[in-house]
Amino acid sequence: MRDYRVTHHELLKRLEAGNRRFVDATTIDRTLELEYTRKLLAKDGQKPWAVMIGCSDSRVPIEKVFDAGLGDLFVIRLAGNCMDGGSLGSVEFAVDSFDIGLVLLIGHKNCGAVTAAHDSCAKSHSPHMDLLFSRIRMASKYRRKAGDSLDLAKAEKANIEYWKDYIRQNSEFLRSRELSGKTLLCSAYYDTFTGNVQFLDVDSYNLRGTDLSFRSDVLNGAEVLN
Ligand SMILES: [Zn+2]
Repeated sequence: MRDYRVTHHELLKRLEAGNRRFVDATTIDRTLELEYTRKLLAKDGQKPWAVMIGCSDSRVPIEKVFDAGLGDLFVIRLAGNCMDGGSLGSVEFAVDSFDIGLVLLIGHKNCGAVTAAHDSCAKSHSPHMDLLFSRIRMASKYRRKAGDSLDLAKAEKANIEYWKDYIRQNSEFLRSRELSGKTLLCSAYYDTFTGNVQFLDVDSYNLRGTDLSFRSDVLNGAEVLN
């Protein structure tokens, strides 16, 4: 039987190591194997090992940030990570099709969509943008106490936590995979200045060691905003 705990540990360590290479500018040169990999994937099909839900921001290219190769990651990118039924279906499709053990939501510093959603001077150009901004505004105020002033970093992290709970609340399939230990749902925050990814649910010290310990408050489903 597959040991999903080991799988989760390995996948997170793989992402953490890839991000370290990105930060240190020691990324793997895959030029020589690119053609072979492309043809192999085309012939045998894809087998991505993680689902990533990132922002569409051009400064946060998920595969580069984690120094991942062709066919490694199933990536969904949405401005401000603002999800809906279709994007949730994409996550379910990937997890179901490839038995994926890790879904990671990644927010980031200086998110233009979160900033615009809170900009009272921003002009409305279409009802679709209005809808986008109103949903991000709601999400980024998640669990914020009444009267608290806007702190952009907190709003960006709250936004991610909201969409993580959105997945849990709206997908019976993914909730059941999480409860049975098959798929880990995590969140992370990318620093656009340093290139560093902070895993919000996992103690990064332990991620580098031999033991992977998840914060008990997260495992219990409680909301945590850093
Ligand atoms: Zn963004």
